[in-house]
Amino acid sequence: MQHYTMRIGDRWVDTDERYDIVNPATGEVVATLAKGRAEHVDAAVDAAWQAYRESGWRETPMARRAEIIETVAARMAERAGELGELAARENGTPIRIAQGLAVGLPIAHMQYFARLARNYQWEQPVEAVGTMTGTIRREPLGVVGGIVPWNFPLLLAVWKAVPAILTGNSVVLKIDEKTPSGTTVLAELLLEAGLPDGVLNIVSGDGDGVGEHLAGHPEVRKISFTGSTATGRKVMVAASGNLKQLTLELGGKGANIILDDADLDLAVDGSLWAFLVHAGQACESGTRLLVPDSLHDEVVGRLVARARQLKVGDPVDPGTDIGPVITARQRDTIMGYLAKATGEGASVAYQADLDEETYARGNWVPPTILTDVTNDMRIAAEEVFGPVLSVIRYHDDAEAVAIANDSEYGLVNGVWSTDLDRARKVAEQLESGTVWVNDWHNLNEKLPYGGYKQSGFGRELGPDALDEYTQEKAITYETSGRSERAGWALLFGADAASS
Ligand code: NAD
Repeated sequence: MQHYTMRIGDRWVDTDERYDIVNPATGEVVATLAKGRAEHVDAAVDAAWQAYRESGWRETPMARRAEIIETVAARMAERAGELGELAARENGTPIRIAQGLAVGLPIAHMQYFARLARNYQWEQPVEAVGTMTGTIRREPLGVVGGIVPWNFPLLLAVWKAVPAILTGNSVVLKIDEKTPSGTTVLAELLLEAGLPDGVLNIVSGDGDGVGEHLAGHPEVRKISFTGSTATGRKVMVAASGNLKQLTLELGGKGANIILDDADLDLAVDGSLWAFLVHAGQACESGTRLLVPDSLHDEVVGRLVARARQLKVGDPVDPGTDIGPVITARQRDTIMGYLAKATGEGASVAYQADLDEETYARGNWVPPTILTDVTNDMRIAAEEVFGPVLSVIRYHDDAEAVAIANDSEYGLVNGVWSTDLDRARKVAEQLESGTVWVNDWHNLNEKLPYGGYKQSGFGRELGPDALDEYTQEKAITYETSGRSERAGWALLFGADAASS
């Protein structure tokens, strides 16, 4: 059985205590992982600083850094089948979705980051002001920490580690204890391609011990965190000790608005895609479906008919559309949300029939469509992180916008309409970092991705992705030697300064 260890400096580091890596579809242990502790974070931060100062990585030409990332992307593409299968077994991501989102996206995003690096502007001259000239330089931060969740571990590791590495930083990445395989392959391939030891360090461990220790570490200059809003708050508090820079990519409760002129064939399939990807375990899921009164029954009828055609089952089977959820605890949480929703007055318009024998093992939640939901119910307010859709009625566009914005979250929203001008007007009023029109889960590398409100701050992807791991330095040159403009003239008087 595969055993995963941590990467610290120039060594793969093991521990006596281990985590079991469990296939959520079957309950079988498929691998084990070293169980990191706070002292491993300390060792990784030390190794990262040593590499930052001594490995020469910071001085390596950008073209060479980009080449290493491109080589790794190409090797990952060659191993896409294997990586997809690992994601299916470890995360329960259905293999087709895994190939597209869990493996295909990280490869495309690495290629994009490498392109950005090749054209990166490290220095810009400042237009001369009188006798002053100068430049604005960008410099790396030093050692940065990344903390990633289990749902798309390789993708999110790439979003954090690759821009940081390309800009000359060293990284300590804290992976989730349930899903080590993709990040381990990433580290192996980077080393093989020529990344110096210590530039990327990987530690495992629990959140409260290891994650929080990294977030609070006085020698770490930035934390880029992806996870729940509740944990994001703890990370922010821990990071305040030495005023770390922060990127927080947190939870979401996307509102998916079908306008009354939408193409319903598209909107209905798109709405299923929006909430069912990875059994709803995506931060950017569209879990609140806002439907005009006039179309409500038709849309619900079509959703149910299409949902019936989707297959819940073994993630490794290419015929599977929807897999299990990650843990038994998460299953129980979701089932608790469903019970509460029906208790509050929601109706079950559809629930997949999972016969007990087939689904006796593993963590299964039947995909469910709820109607009669109002936006004040818990099912509509909180992130459920499961295959559950809440259908909410509205009367006009203004009310749809008000319902969508009545959320503490602001990660993504979406609009379906055949009139792009009308859709744009709605999109402009929605309070979220992303609005998809006639689409969902479009994590294109050229689009900055991140939250409004309690979905966090900072952006990943997009043209400024590398800037998030640099800091600006202004250097000015006073060229006259005796400028009247110089500040010290205020002290000495104009005559004295220019004499
Ligand atoms: P989580 O917050 O429980 O854990 C995320 C990571 O943080 C894990 O590695 C965990 O070990 C670590 N952690 C836990 N407690 C910590 C602490 N006190 N200090 C530091 N680190 C700690 O989230 P999860 O359940 O693993 O993932 C699901 C959540 O992630 C959802 O809320 C989802 O919306 C969010 N998410 C957001 C994005 C995004 O880009 N906005 C993407 C994917 C997932």
